[in-house]
Amino acid sequence: CKVLVSGANGYIAIWVVRTLLEKGYSVRGTVRSEEKAAHLRQLFKSYGDMHEVVIVEDITKEGAFDEAVKGVDAIEHTASPFHMNADDPNELINPAVNGTVGILKSALKNGHSVKRVVVTSSGAAILRDSPTPSTFSELDWNEQCLEIVKEKGREAPNMMKYRASKTLAEKAAWDFWNEHKADVGWDLSVLNPPYVFGPAIHALTGPSSLNTSASLFYNTVALPNSNGATNEFLASTGTCWIDVRDLADAHVLSLENEAAGGERIIVSAGLWKWQDFIDAANAISPPPKLTTGGLPKGNPCAGTGHPSTVHLLYYDTAKAARILGLKYRTIAETTKDTLADYEAKWW
Ligand code: NDP
Repeated sequence: CKVLVSGANGYIAIWVVRTLLEKGYSVRGTVRSEEKAAHLRQLFKSYGDMHEVVIVEDITKEGAFDEAVKGVDAIEHTASPFHMNADDPNELINPAVNGTVGILKSALKNGHSVKRVVVTSSGAAILRDSPTPSTFSELDWNEQCLEIVKEKGREAPNMMKYRASKTLAEKAAWDFWNEHKADVGWDLSVLNPPYVFGPAIHALTGPSSLNTSASLFYNTVALPNSNGATNEFLASTGTCWIDVRDLADAHVLSLENEAAGGERIIVSAGLWKWQDFIDAANAISPPPKLTTGGLPKGNPCAGTGHPSTVHLLYYDTAKAARILGLKYRTIAETTKDTLADYEAKWW
């Protein structure tokens, strides 16, 4: 059974590749350049012919994935920009939407053996900022970001531009599938994870090259004084999260479970505030060897569980439990493994 993974060099995707290989699947990863293939080839060398990397230079080009989809049984589409530096919202929206529709078009044209396509969407395509606590389910769509980006364009907050890219890409995926489901031998399944944290196995030159979510974690949980964040910020900032390894499992389970077909699925381990991860870091015994100065302390125990803590965003994860039966790592486990990873790499 061979699985195509787009953007295979990314933080999440490389864990998806590893999990698939460990479970006995063959994997064809796509990356944008030969240079980005090298680390993957080295890391998964022991898998021999079970692992290959192909170059798809520009995922927005018509027919970009036409060759890559040939002969695969399933597709995991993760490639999409996740950063907060876009001026024009289309810098994010175009690759997100055209990359997603492009890979589905290629699957329609040449994916004769494809049975399932899993798209990595996001909680960003579901949630809405609200001043009062709200619980979101797979029935919700983030129309708020679309309105804000439509109204403000380049002046919209960067987070709203990213959310719009994920919302529009996921909507486009469902529209495409609904239009073509009678003509294809595959169905669509979408994963909607919140913030993703945990160890990194992709190519990194240092902490500053971490992807967006892991870099927030490094700066706040591993740098002294949380890089200048106030105790108030650490106690009040946080939403929901999932460990990158659990998310990789979810990607594989979404391929394997018949019932995941035609579903968008929220996968979330639960609530967090930065103070929770900081408390978990300080509870590690023996403490991690830091070369960056001491661990931040914040205001110990002022995070989740403290009577004054307010969470505004909750997810209903019943569908993931029912269909995927996913087990989630805890804040303590993820923090311990992530700091051990930093220690091994950089400290
Ligand atoms: P990374 O930045 O580590 O990986 C992104 C991947 O997408 C890389 O392979 C990257 O290629 C590729 N990519 C980005 N922009 C483009 C583009 N314009 N054209 C072609 N390929 C592109 O991020 P993550 O692993 O964190 O994210 C992977 C997916 O998960 C994304 O779809 C993201 O939206 C989603 N997600 C992430 C969350 C998180 O907290 N990390 C939360 C929820 C969803 P290259 O290296 O060449 O730039």
